[in-house]
Amino acid sequence: MVSRVIPVDDFDLVIFGATGDLAHRKILPGLFRRFVAGQIPATSRIIGAARTEQDDHAFRDEAARAISEFAGVKANDPRLAQFLDLLGYVAIDARGEGGWTDLKARVRDGAVQAFYFSVAPALFGDIAERLANFGIVDSRSRIVVEKPFGRDLDSARALNATLARHFDEHQIYRIDHYLGKETVQNLMAVRFANILFEPLWNAQFIDHVQITVAETVGVAGRGSYYDKSGAIRDMVQNHMMQLLCLIAMEPPYHFDPDAVRDEKLKVIRALEPLEPGDIVRGQYQADGREPGYLDDSENPESRTESYVAMKVRISNWRWQGTPFYLRTGKKLRARTSEIAITFKEPPHSIFEDAGAPKANELVIRLQPNEGMNLKVMIKEPGPGGMRLVQVPLDMSFADALGTDGSDMPDAYERLIMDVIRGNQTLFMRGDEVEAAWAWTDPIIDAWEDSKRLPEPYDAGSSGPEEALRLMHRDNRRWREIRA
Ligand code: NAP
Repeated sequence: MVSRVIPVDDFDLVIFGATGDLAHRKILPGLFRRFVAGQIPATSRIIGAARTEQDDHAFRDEAARAISEFAGVKANDPRLAQFLDLLGYVAIDARGEGGWTDLKARVRDGAVQAFYFSVAPALFGDIAERLANFGIVDSRSRIVVEKPFGRDLDSARALNATLARHFDEHQIYRIDHYLGKETVQNLMAVRFANILFEPLWNAQFIDHVQITVAETVGVAGRGSYYDKSGAIRDMVQNHMMQLLCLIAMEPPYHFDPDAVRDEKLKVIRALEPLEPGDIVRGQYQADGREPGYLDDSENPESRTESYVAMKVRISNWRWQGTPFYLRTGKKLRARTSEIAITFKEPPHSIFEDAGAPKANELVIRLQPNEGMNLKVMIKEPGPGGMRLVQVPLDMSFADALGTDGSDMPDAYERLIMDVIRGNQTLFMRGDEVEAAWAWTDPIIDAWEDSKRLPEPYDAGSSGPEEALRLMHRDNRRWREIRA
């Protein structure tokens, strides 16, 4: 089964930061793939903007190299040449006055207009201001802003206020690429398009939830950036919080941007402040062959966490008594992202000698091999009488939908197409981001005020021992981290 491609309206997309890493690795290759899929009208235009002085031709060559490398397309593929025809370039310094009139002349009035701010957040205000002052944008224009959206509540508020000077909330698309993942959207489909799960989706039937985002890479190469961030800012405040919201939220009255985001916001506001004993921070250590975090970060005194595990409680009727355990880290055993929902054990077993029934578990895999796995009890096949065994009802989307996934849009592609369609459902609203920081700030502040050091853990392990104890204390265990 191949997904239906619905072309978007004719558009002009301006990419600020078009010469940067994100544009090269994700945005341009993603747009190319959507073009090849027939989703982008051939009249649309993609205009790169950055300080580098170059003309349209040089930018097309640059884009061709990036697309060949990151979309795996041959340089002589005729579809690449067709796509490059859509591309143009304007040299602009976000803080200067040159180039803006040229840009204004290039952006058409009748087409959908979107401006992707793929630059450092410090430049968002400069770009927004000049787009407005040069009369390039109006109330129909859309802007896309990248993470990080602030580094605490104050900076996020300031950023929101800066953008709000020139744009209405319905024009602002804050990207969290996790929300563009197929499985993340499937979470909503599974919950709200089936009768099977939702009646059980509460503290009465769910024992606990585990959310894991594990990476095998360290921070080498971007150590100085990461050292100012750490796992809480880099992963928890945004991606993991979004996953938590989608699992925990009430059913929205409609699959509509504000209805969905209202429900997510209520979850964030219902998060209880974290108790000091409910969080473990870790740092991977050198093992003789591989450098440790302190080598990679180049700050021998750094207390920044490359791993964090926490027990989160949601204070509302649905979730009172069901903890959510979150963990994320670098240099762990495998690269995997998953959400595991462990149901409660059946209240009574009628099978006395057949073995105790185990709790059902629903695992939603985000990567690798997106899919779902529901563990259920059945009778062990064969003549040995009634013996119970737990088996997985395993659904890999690749198998179930008859695709290896290569024809599915990746998160960035999907989200950019949503911007053109004017659909904000999978983008974070300003109040959501602020509420997430309001919950995270005290956790970060308490750590900064303390003298504690992060718990060391070995590269290739599952994280620090202390994180295992966080679970054992509650008579629970983390799921194994494996690809
Ligand atoms: P990058 O490689 O450093 O690229 C920055 C871009 O901004 C370049 O095109 C640069 O081009 C342009 N630029 C810098 N100063 C400028 C100015 N004064 N006026 C106009 N353009 C200017 O950064 P990146 O990795 O692409 O990241 C871009 C944004 O995406 C950042 O906010 C980052 O946090 C976010 N992000 C990136 C990734 C990723 O995987 N790379 C992932 C998530 C989020 P010139 O030097 O030619 O001006």
